[in-house]
Amino acid sequence: MSDPFQQALQATLPMLKKIQQGIKPAPKGSTAALKKLRDVALAHRPVAKPTAAASLSTPGTGVATANRATANRATADLANRPAAKLPAAIPPSSGGGQWTMESLRTAVLACEKCPHLVRSRTQVVFGVGNPEAELLFVGEAPGADEDAQGEPFVGKAGQLLTKIIQAMGFERSDIFIANVLKCRPDMPSGESGNRKPKPAEMATCLPWLGEQISLIRPRVIVALGATAVEGLLGETSPLRDLRGRWLEFQGTPVMVTYHPAYLLRNQSLSEKRKVWEDMLLVLEKLGKKISAKQRAFFTNPA
Ligand code: URA
Repeated sequence: MSDPFQQALQATLPMLKKIQQGIKPAPKGSTAALKKLRDVALAHRPVAKPTAAASLSTPGTGVATANRATANRATADLANRPAAKLPAAIPPSSGGGQWTMESLRTAVLACEKCPHLVRSRTQVVFGVGNPEAELLFVGEAPGADEDAQGEPFVGKAGQLLTKIIQAMGFERSDIFIANVLKCRPDMPSGESGNRKPKPAEMATCLPWLGEQISLIRPRVIVALGATAVEGLLGETSPLRDLRGRWLEFQGTPVMVTYHPAYLLRNQSLSEKRKVWEDMLLVLEKLGKKISAKQRAFFTNPA
């Protein structure tokens, strides 16, 4: 077996199975092993193949739903952003070209790396929003609604996420939304609902998200929920210990917060407030003005 990712995956598989079965505590060394797998996945990122779409489009201009006014934000602002420090892309001379959002989208939509998900999916859910967004939200995987519509976060949790985004002073078209896993996790036959993506599925898909981040160059990433953090950063600590703190993905600050689906299950004001406090930290990091009304959201009247 010469593929380094397959080698790393095989070495980690017994541990991944224990994590997937929910065996607690997580096997010793699993965080380090997951991080290693993630690093190998990112170091062997997909090569851009020149396509008709790629040759027609210019970098970072492809996503149809982009809000042009926001997308055309001053290029000086873009230039000042720290670039996500991913390992160098395989150079165009190796047969590929530089990705554009359109060529990347074409490649991701045709991805067949996980045959079981190819069989079960309606479509790949690439991501949506402004290809030059300063803020990127990352979820875990499409659910049934997203699989049907081809857009992330359009179900009930998605509607709550949209409200959070608007309360922050943005529209969905201002920011970018993507998942760690781009296909809906398959369910055993006869079972409905959603299952958590497996670590191996997320590691296989992560290079696509890495390419999206390289193209978008967001100033801040928000990771929604424990699975997104595990997929993105290989971090398996409890979310209550991670949320509200700045972590980092290849040089880009990552704020971890609860998944909106958790807020739908747990309607308490204190949990909503925690997510909102995390979003205030994001707004501060982005240098946005925060109104008194925004500061007071979800605080109990004295
Ligand atoms: N939950 C996610 O994590 N992603 C989606 O796209 C929808 C629900």
